[in-house]
Amino acid sequence: MSYIKLPFNFKYIDDSVLLVNQAGEHLFLTKEDFSAFTSDVLNSDNEAYKRLKAKHFLTVQSELNQVIEMLATKLRTRKEYLADFTSLHMIVITLRCNCLCKYCHASSVDFTNKSYDMDWDTAKKTIDMIFQTPSKDIKIEYQGGEPLLNWDILKQSVLYAEFLNKIAKKKVGFVICTNLMDITDEQIDFCKKHNIEISTSLDGTKELHDCNRQSRIYPSSYDAFIKNSERVNAKLGNNGASPLLTITKTNLHRLREVIDEYVRQGHNAIFLRALNPYGNAVQNKDELGYSIEEFVEAYKDALNYIIDLNRQGTEFTECFTALLLSRILTPFSTGFVDLQSPSGAGISGAIYYYDGKIYPADEARMLARMGDDYFCMGTVNDHYSDVFNGQVIRDIVYNSCVETMPVCSECVYQQYCGADVIRNYLETKDLMGYRLNSGFCKKNKLILDYIFELLRTNDEQLLDIFWSWITRRPYEEIKLETN
Ligand code: SF4
Ligand code: SF4
Repeated sequence: MSYIKLPFNFKYIDDSVLLVNQAGEHLFLTKEDFSAFTSDVLNSDNEAYKRLKAKHFLTVQSELNQVIEMLATKLRTRKEYLADFTSLHMIVITLRCNCLCKYCHASSVDFTNKSYDMDWDTAKKTIDMIFQTPSKDIKIEYQGGEPLLNWDILKQSVLYAEFLNKIAKKKVGFVICTNLMDITDEQIDFCKKHNIEISTSLDGTKELHDCNRQSRIYPSSYDAFIKNSERVNAKLGNNGASPLLTITKTNLHRLREVIDEYVRQGHNAIFLRALNPYGNAVQNKDELGYSIEEFVEAYKDALNYIIDLNRQGTEFTECFTALLLSRILTPFSTGFVDLQSPSGAGISGAIYYYDGKIYPADEARMLARMGDDYFCMGTVNDHYSDVFNGQVIRDIVYNSCVETMPVCSECVYQQYCGADVIRNYLETKDLMGYRLNSGFCKKNKLILDYIFELLRTNDEQLLDIFWSWITRRPYEEIKLETN
């Protein structure tokens, strides 16, 4: 019986071929089966034929309309973030900071310089603008500098958002990204009362953390961090303050130690992110920087270490891998700006600067701080539609659909990847960028190569561990279900 091939991209890997279709379904074929499939001579008795049909890589004429409908439903689900416009709203409430981190992407200023604080008029207009978003689910994230240094305005803006929400009746959540250096009991109590999450930073052991994250006040930022995170956890519960890691040359080759430190402090996840080329990270790049290849090798080693920890009974997630696995193994969108097509910049998230300017992503305000205001979408004094339906966001969308971008359009990883327009612009002055020498592309390709290498082993325990990461459920529960 003849069959119809449905659109897919592919890549030869050793003795097999990886195929991914437009709904993000993947499978591996032998080279022989792939050749028979693409030459239209694969027999319907063949095991490969059944797998290709089940995952909608091929169909027969009588089922074509039904299969197209199913693929369309999956594609709509993957693109659901487009309908949730815009859920993450970051507010740079001050650029002042009591730390002097070597890589500070925000290029923070001294903690005494109040001219970089958001004033109440701007904060109020910011919250008004945020509440005009059509999204029913709003997360307001306070960033800096160190946001707690502009506490009165931060507190008032939370109360004002809660007041507006009495009428708007949206699902509103708050996050404060703080280095925890000087958090007070009053601030912790306020967070508890208003259900505010705390996000913080931990770069590893005392030696590693103090090396990268120096305090402008204390001899050891690590000691202050530990003391205060214990206070926060005591009031908000374990994992009350969840940390983010920044990887520099200092800790790149010591990620196992960093992971041990996270486990020792009771955390159950880590996000292995490469250093971004913004702010102080650029000035200090000789001291802090590394190549993509070095990063990926360190990532692989750390990922293997984390997998081994899980095999030995310590449940611990690597969040970037979990995000990619979610894109690979489920039809759901992840909300991660850089892994979306079109890019989620401005669509999934937006950032409101201390002076009232609005940018589509954190990196865009970092670029502005470096003197390039290209991505400014407008200000809180403008009309909502002029900002969120303006030229900047349109340019981002036009230039970030991997389905049509050169090289990406033929890439097997297209459905799991995205576009970083701000990084493209920074590196090439072109929003679409140039894939063949893009670090973003190289990193994603190498990491996805490795994840598919792991998936291809069909190691049942490993798959259960991965599902526990994706679903955020205990490994034992997943194991019981799959056995
Ligand atoms: S990275 Fe954060 S804590 Fe460190 S100096 Fe910059 S704003 Fe302050
Ligand atoms: S950026 Fe690179 S890895 Fe991602 S889809 Fe494009 S070509 Fe593929």
